[in-house]
Amino acid sequence: MTKRAFNFSAGPAAIPTPVLERAQAELLDYKGSGTSVMEMSHRGKLFLALAHEVEADLRELMGIPANYKVLFLQGGGKGEFALIPLNLLRGRTSADYLDTGHWSSLAIDEARKYCTPHVVASAKASGYTDVPAPTTWRTQRDAAYRHICTNETIHGVEIFESTIATARAIDDVPLVADMSSHILSRLMDVSAFGCIYAGAQKNIGPSGLTLVVVREDLLGAAHPMTPSVFDYTQQAKSEWMLNTPPTFAVYLAGLTFKWIKEQGGLAAMEAINLRKADKLYASIDQSQGFYRNAVAPAYRSRMNVPFVLRDEPLNAPFLAEAEARGLVGLKGHKAVGGMRASIYNAVGMDAVDALCTLMDEFARRHG
Ligand code: PMP
Repeated sequence: MTKRAFNFSAGPAAIPTPVLERAQAELLDYKGSGTSVMEMSHRGKLFLALAHEVEADLRELMGIPANYKVLFLQGGGKGEFALIPLNLLRGRTSADYLDTGHWSSLAIDEARKYCTPHVVASAKASGYTDVPAPTTWRTQRDAAYRHICTNETIHGVEIFESTIATARAIDDVPLVADMSSHILSRLMDVSAFGCIYAGAQKNIGPSGLTLVVVREDLLGAAHPMTPSVFDYTQQAKSEWMLNTPPTFAVYLAGLTFKWIKEQGGLAAMEAINLRKADKLYASIDQSQGFYRNAVAPAYRSRMNVPFVLRDEPLNAPFLAEAEARGLVGLKGHKAVGGMRASIYNAVGMDAVDALCTLMDEFARRHG
């Protein structure tokens, strides 16, 4: 049997093994066509049928209302940092941004090229370990939109439903969310947002694919300089076939959606993800300071769990021991150091068990 690692990579990240096996089985001959999905026209019958099914499965999984367009584009999360203002400023000059970490900060920097981003609140002073309550945000009533990053992949900070509900209740400025690193990890009320976007390379599939879910009433007023292939309105009109979409990535995303449905959908994913995160945070919190995660418990991400070891020189031996046990991708981002365990949908409880066992044994030996 092929050896598969326990893969804690932050992204590109683990893809469910059954998805890869199915892709492997269909690689040379997709549905009797004698070609792979990679090798067929995006305008042919077979691919169009696949594309419809992929979109329908995502709509079902996320409960996307009919007045939202679903677009499978390119450009990644960072591309969206520019495309959000280009598409959604709609003639206005300012948009609200919440600063909760590395990725929302980069979104703010990029937005500066197109408008005046107004930072409603920042968690920088706390070292990005919590989320400012929406009741304290200094919002603008005439903002074109209000941008939040609902899961900060590097700082391990997640925004949950109660905060989203309070933010939504402020006024009718559309909320825009970067959900790159936790989309499909739990049930989410899509109708709370004007627009949701996500790079695919965590919970959706391979990199090179970007998902945009946008409410129809926000379309139709992209900045005239917006490249056509990045114009949500034009892409919506052509059912995201204005240009050649990343067809193989769309296919793999579709297989992932089917896999999530087989697991029982987002409610089931959420239950599993909660168990995984609870177990890992418990290992950290019960280590008597050998491992530490500084994020306020109410905002601890269930997808990205950064932690530091008590003594920095222990990082290298920890990583070496992890690798020897088949645990990969644990090195933390340089901005925060230490370790980061990304426990996306495709990372099973068995991987978390293996990590917690390593952590306990390592702490006992070095504590
Ligand atoms: N937003 C978030 C929350 C991310 O985690 C990432 C990448 N890790 C990005 C944006 C940037 O995505 P990309 O590399 O696809 O541009």
